Amino acid sequence: MTFDDWLQQHHEERRRAGLVRRLEPRPATAAGTIDLAGNDYLGLARHPQVTAAAAAATLTWGAGAGASRLVTGSLEVHAELEAAVAAFTGQDAALAFSTGYHANLGAVAALADADTLLVSDAHVHASLVDACRLSRPGALTITAHNDLDAVESALRGRRLPRALVLVESVYSVLGDAAPLVELMGLIETYDAILLVDEAHGIGVAGKDGHGLVATHGLAGRTDVVTTMTLSKALGSQGGVVLGSARVVDHLINTARPFIYDTGLAPAAAAAALAALGVLRSDPSLSHRVLANAARLAAAAGVDAPAGAVLSLPMPSAEAALRAQADLLAGSVRVGCFRPPSVPGPVSRLRVTARADLTEPELELACRLLACVGDGT
Ligand code: PMP
Repeated sequence: MTFDDWLQQHHEERRRAGLVRRLEPRPATAAGTIDLAGNDYLGLARHPQVTAAAAAATLTWGAGAGASRLVTGSLEVHAELEAAVAAFTGQDAALAFSTGYHANLGAVAALADADTLLVSDAHVHASLVDACRLSRPGALTITAHNDLDAVESALRGRRLPRALVLVESVYSVLGDAAPLVELMGLIETYDAILLVDEAHGIGVAGKDGHGLVATHGLAGRTDVVTTMTLSKALGSQGGVVLGSARVVDHLINTARPFIYDTGLAPAAAAAALAALGVLRSDPSLSHRVLANAARLAAAAGVDAPAGAVLSLPMPSAEAALRAQADLLAGSVRVGCFRPPSVPGPVSRLRVTARADLTEPELELACRLLACVGDGT
């Protein structure tokens, strides 16, 4: 079979399964469409202070960092960003990566090895799934979603000297929260480490958007490592690992997605720093996104989510696609996740709230979501 035949065969398989993915470039302003599919939860991607900071940083530092961080690509704006994110989340130290994906790959692969049992929730993000593969752990156990008994049984029965448990504070598709306090109890009992991906927590969940790790008093612990992205509530691009100074030092020395990658673009670092400043001076942004999420959830007939993400289970993949198209016809864009993109048999609509939704936008979205909930 030629290479081209092989590509064609894969395409045919995807087409038959109805799983062909296509890129749909959007214009800068999608006039008339309400975006409830993106992750710009606080509406900061276009905030004038944020875009001005990105532009100023580009003029000051150039369009790119110019090198990897350990060569000449560590800029003062990176150090400022790392200090600000660590302070905001109550952590000792922070290390910026070029994406949240890289942050997860780097953290897990640097912290787990052949002497480590990895215990991963079945619903963690693809970047943590890939991180498990990259780290080549001594053993890997996938536990059912938020199943504390399964986590305990994996930790109790372990033969390897170390264990790292992987969860998200607010799950990216299901929108629910991990039982962090109970997990921490297991981490202490079984002398393990907890890695919490706060991609959907920071800026939205917990007190004034400081995230669930800080709000539950778990920041600054040496047995907790947190990862986050700069691309969602902070409206920019990039990722960060947060933890003790020792963890950060270990990552600087061993995390390949950090060492061999060009430093985060200065515009992205400065934009995230400015977004954090906007959020610090106006914590009501995080209150507003949660209130809007609760309102959308009530309209759709589901529980209020832990963060900005609402998950609406659909009776079938076809019904999910139909509901997504109907919402779009009514000018409301939502996400649609079907197996195998998500684990389990259930297709879902993923609806994300934003802090900057106007009253007429909320009213229209609620009216249309109520019809989805009704099945009408
Ligand atoms: N973790 C989670 C839970 C995510 O949802 C995402 C992005 N979808 C990432 C990590 C990756 O972040 P980034 O987009 O910054 O690479």
